[in-house]
This record gives sequence, structure tokens and C-alpha cells, in this order.
Amino acid sequence: MKVDVVVVGGGPAGLSAAIEIGSRGGNVVVIDDHPTPGGKLLGQLHQEGNHSKWWKGFEFAQKLKQKALAANVQILSEKQVWGLEPGWKVHISDLVKNEPGMEIQADCVLLATGAVEKPIPIPGWTLPGVLSIGAAQVMTNVYQVLPGKKVIVAGIDILSLSIARSMKLAGADIVGIYMLPHNPFSNYASPLLHLETLNEMTDFAPSKMIRLTGKLLKSKTGRKIAAQYYPPKGIKMWGIPIHLRSTIVTINGNQEVESVSISKIDVNGNPIGEQKVIQADTVCIAGGLSPLYELAATVGCKFVTLEGLSGTVPLHNKELQTTVPNLFVAGNITGIEGAKVAVAQGTLAGKSICKKVKIGNVKEAEIKESISFVEYSRKLSEIQFHPKVLEAREHLEDLWSKWAHNVN
Ligand SMILES: Cc1cc2nc3c(=O)[nH]c(=O)nc-3n(C[C@H](O)[C@H](O)[C@H](O)COP(=O)(O)OP(=O)(O)OC[C@H]3O[C@@H](n4cnc5c(N)ncnc54)[C@H](O)[C@@H]3O)c2cc1C
Repeated sequence: MKVDVVVVGGGPAGLSAAIEIGSRGGNVVVIDDHPTPGGKLLGQLHQEGNHSKWWKGFEFAQKLKQKALAANVQILSEKQVWGLEPGWKVHISDLVKNEPGMEIQADCVLLATGAVEKPIPIPGWTLPGVLSIGAAQVMTNVYQVLPGKKVIVAGIDILSLSIARSMKLAGADIVGIYMLPHNPFSNYASPLLHLETLNEMTDFAPSKMIRLTGKLLKSKTGRKIAAQYYPPKGIKMWGIPIHLRSTIVTINGNQEVESVSISKIDVNGNPIGEQKVIQADTVCIAGGLSPLYELAATVGCKFVTLEGLSGTVPLHNKELQTTVPNLFVAGNITGIEGAKVAVAQGTLAGKSICKKVKIGNVKEAEIKESISFVEYSRKLSEIQFHPKVLEAREHLEDLWSKWAHNVN
């Protein structure tokens, strides 16, 4: 098969880019490894910041799919891209049928592969009943199967809170959300460090008191006071106790999860005092997300690691072009952000690609408008995965300028 553009990943970024390319007359194919296109959208369900509306990712994914099909986009589901050769040759295998792999030639490739969860080892984590928070989201919101009845969540972040809420709404007893163990895998999680990111979450809180506490967390001194005086019994949000001053030490059970041992911690995350055993049948580990970039690494992209983008990303410019000719990126592969930013980036990448390979007649002003829309979506985004994302984006631009200056 020969096409103008191959898009790897059928999430919000990939589908939005393909819609843009297809509607301008480009021949574009989206490859996605899931049975249904939509990527992580499929499991997303949360209340918008002003509490008036719900973000239903599944419905939004269906709309994107319909728009893509109307724009003559080919969507190949349950297929995985396992190799790329610049020029481009895209190697694909079928994940369901036992068939030989296929190869697609294209002028341009867009990587919109999304993100992966970071696994955090905790003694006992191999017991049945332990799963990642993303798996709990898929079970609850996509397949409508509760992962367990009495659930403990390890790791406090915006994702774990939102998914714990979904499980509670679906009928699970959420015993509590606890801190991850203080070790190298969790980047030495501690109440003091955590309060910086938690301040972003308080805007979503249903209680005025918690939203006001969020204001206190904006300053370093405020965070120190909050860490020191955080109630030992935790603070409840949507009826779910959040235990910032306790960590999970071990997950216990013979054949499956039966309980967890927890310990109080000091403001720096070090266990203090005696351990306590709490009954539970399920433990969800929320270790955070990182960009899924391996395919870019196989073709010689330059990379940068920036904390505000939640890890390592292919170096790219504002138009989402990487350091490899005709290879573009969009969505969470460029840094972890919410779905609305991924959509805006996808549309921008679609236009940048059309300009590059001369599909339609994309004007410079249209690209600029899309760049501004990405920035606008980022500033207004209700889901902020990292407080330093804006800073990191500026840093990325400097790094790109330096690289481009050296090359030219
Ligand atoms: C577990 C998890 C839960 C999340 N929950 C939320 C949430 O509730 N709210 C929110 O705003 N954000 C959430 N996010 C962030 C989310 O990633 C973004 O909101 C948004 O979906 C990113 O869009 P994307 O198109 O970049 O990637 P994705 O939505 O992740 O889509 C990428 C797609 O590409 C596929 N893919 C990857 N590699 C290949 C390959 N080699 N071949 C074929 N297909 C491939 C993936 O399987 C996936 O289907 C979550 C992320 C994760 C990892």
C-alpha cells in the first residue's frame, strides 16, 4: 500500500490529525492497536472544572471516528506498528489474525502513540488483585466491570483521584488513596513534593474548603504548613479519603490480595511509627505517566528530558516537526497533557504535514492560528498533569532553536 501519510496511533491526537489531512484531500491511514479507535479517550470520564458538565471521552471518540471516516481516512484497528524505515516504510503486524505482516509506504509519518503508565514495585504487587490505575479505568469505564469490591489506591495524582471516583460511582468501596513508597521508582515521593502537584487538583474539589486550601498550596511556606498539619485521618474528596501522610509498605495475601500494610510518614516521605493492616481485595497502583516514544528512537530522532513534560520526548518545534525529515509528533508523545490539548496538537500536526507534503493549500496564517489554539487549550486545560508544563514548553523551544542553529 502507498499513501501520503501514515498516522501511528488512533487516539485524539492521531484522529484529529488524520481528519485534517483527509479533509484536505490527502490519502491517510491511521494504525491503532486497539479494537476501537479513540486511544485513552475511551476510558475518560470526569466532571469539568465548573462542575456543570461531564467529559465523556467515549462519546467524543465516537464523534472523532465518524468525522475521520467522513474525511475518507482509513482506520486499521488491532494492528501494531513495530518498525519504521525513513523514506518511509512502515512495518505493521496484525494483533488478532495469524497473518503475515504488512508494509505501507508513505511520504510522511505522524507518531501519535500516546503515553504509558509507570510501574512502581511494591512488595506483594505480583498477587492477583493488583493492577495499574489505567487498567482499573479501562475495566470500570470501558468494559463496565468493577476491578474489586474493597479497593485501595497507591499513588495520589489527578488521574488516580478521577479513576477512584469512577470506581466509587460504579459501586466500589474505595478504602483510601495512599502515598507511593518513598523509593527511586517513585522519585522519592513525599508529602512536601506532592503538595506542589496536588494544588492543581484542588480546583476540581466539590468542597469550598478544599478549594481554599488549594490557594495555600501555591506558596512554598504554605505547602510546608499543609504537609506538617495534614490530618492523620486524611481529607475526603467525593467521600474518598486521601492519605497524604501514610504510605503502602506491603500488599499481603496468600493466593490473592487480602490486605495492605500501611505506615505513617514524615513530610519527607520516611515511614514513622508502627504499621497498620487494612483489609482490601484490590490494589491499584498509580505511578504516573510517561510519553511512549520508542518508535522515534529507532529512526534517530534527537530527544530531550524535561520534568514538566513528564519525561523524555522527541525534540520538536512548534509545528510538531521532529529532527528527522518528514517525521512529526502530536499528543502525549510530546509530553503528558489532557485530551483537549492532544486534539489541538493533532489538528496542528495535520496542517503542518499538509504544508510539508503539499496536500491542499495550507496558508502560513492557518498554521499560526493552530499554534495559538494549542497554547490556548494548554492554558485553559482543566487537567494539568504537571505544574511546570508551560515552563517546559518554553525550554523545549530554546532547545529546538539551538539545535536548528547548529544544523544550519
Ligand atoms: C492510563 C491512562 C489514563 C488516562 N486518563 C486520562 C483521563 O482520564 N483524562 C485525561 O484528560 N487524560 C487522560 N490520560 C492522558 C491521555 O493520554 C490524553 O488525555 C490523551 O488521550 C492523549 O492522546 P494521544 O492521542 O496522544 O494518545 P492516546 O489517547 O494514548 O492514543 C494513542 C493510541 O496509539 C496506540 N499506539 C501506541 N503505539 C502504537 C503502535 N506502535 N502501533 C499501533 N498503535 C499504537 C495506543 O494504544 C493508543 O490507542 C490518560 C493516559 C493514560 C496512559
